[in-house]
Amino acid sequence: MNKKIFHFTFLTTLFALAAAAVCIIGILFDTFENQIRAEVESEAGYIAQAVENEGISFLESLEDTDRRITLINSDGTVIFDNQADTTALDNHAEREEIKEAMEKGKGMSVRYSKTLTEKTLYYAVKLSDSSILRVSTNQYTVFTIVMGLLQPILFILAAVLIITAILSSRVSKSIVKPINDLDLDDPENNETYEELTPLLKKISDQKRMISKQIEELSKRDEMRREFTANVSHELKTPLTSISGFAELMKNGNVPHDVATDFSKSIYEETQRLISLVNDIIGLSELEEKNISLKKEAVDLYELSREIIDRLKSAAAKKNVSMNLMGGSAEVYGVRKILDEMIYNLCDNGIKYNRENGTVDIIVNDADKKAYLTVRDTGIGISAEHQPRVFERFYRVDKSRSKQVGGTGLGLAIVKHGAIYHGAEITLESVEGKGTAVTVTFDKDQYNI
Ligand code: ADP
Repeated sequence: MNKKIFHFTFLTTLFALAAAAVCIIGILFDTFENQIRAEVESEAGYIAQAVENEGISFLESLEDTDRRITLINSDGTVIFDNQADTTALDNHAEREEIKEAMEKGKGMSVRYSKTLTEKTLYYAVKLSDSSILRVSTNQYTVFTIVMGLLQPILFILAAVLIITAILSSRVSKSIVKPINDLDLDDPENNETYEELTPLLKKISDQKRMISKQIEELSKRDEMRREFTANVSHELKTPLTSISGFAELMKNGNVPHDVATDFSKSIYEETQRLISLVNDIIGLSELEEKNISLKKEAVDLYELSREIIDRLKSAAAKKNVSMNLMGGSAEVYGVRKILDEMIYNLCDNGIKYNRENGTVDIIVNDADKKAYLTVRDTGIGISAEHQPRVFERFYRVDKSRSKQVGGTGLGLAIVKHGAIYHGAEITLESVEGKGTAVTVTFDKDQYNI
């Protein structure tokens, strides 16, 4: 960058100086030339007047002039020339300035020498007797003047080059320095070019975003590790008891009725394992957003009715009554996920209920939103546990959860299902009285 700025300023300055020098020389030369023309013109005027009055004798009496003065007859023969032998001069009738003067009274022309180093300015005036008086002067061309001044010009050029190089180097360094001095650890706290403020703000925003992403990634990593540890633990417990029962039974020494009990336990443990594995698969699918199921219009009211049907026997075992309230409310989503969400909420409503309790499922549709509330009359969740129950494997009472067949993943599935559908969850619960979980779907999002 330093080099680029240096080259740019150096070349621009050099070009500007060269252009200025050419313009100044051109203007000076033009002024100088115009001045000479005016002088020759006025001299020719005076001499013509004198010749009109005194005749050729005036010309013969002229001494000491560096101008060439020629008198030409109306037929073009030269009758006087102060710098040449008139007999050696050919007819001048065809000379440009003479022809012009014959026609218009005065004429002018410029002729260059063969080497272009000199030029001659001719000015001709027609006298009253039709003869022509011509005054001419030699002039150096710009080229000759420049060539004559070549040495000082080269010297000045070299000096200008050196000064320009030094200045350009300083300028480029002073431009780059504030950029090199930028503190990128704290991009917005720099006193630098105003033009850099948007860039520094962008860097700062990017930094913030990256550190947020890093934080999120390490949080996820931590959660993943915790999850793996929890899963291993959850799998190990039933596997250990299955292995224990099987070990006792493998020798065939267990009495028949005890073996029946053991088989029942093995069956229950395997059922627990199956629902745990199913929940883990469902949850990881949701988390990875790896769901190939198609979205469709799903009526939460109808779906709730189906789920109540499936949970009938579980509710009956506890003598819990299930009531569906409200009315039809359609959302655009994945039926399987919505099913799991409502199923888990109702299942919890039954599992953590008291004998003869109730579970109300209320479905509503208002203001472009669909609401689903599952309210029970169960044991409730204390305020201290409420913020954590949606975490994976978090249980308020571990032994109770296991006893009722919980995997600790039900509410995590509800939470991720809600995130997947852009829905919000609210939980209200009073210990000993009951719990109500409401999922609010934004229907605008799904164009329904
Ligand atoms: P689990 O499989 O153990 O039911 P969940 O993720 O569904 O796991 O719930 C997490 C914990 O939250 C449960 O273990 C329980 O302690 C508490 N919980 C969930 N729903 C209810 C409810 N309706 N009433 C009381 N406690 C509940």
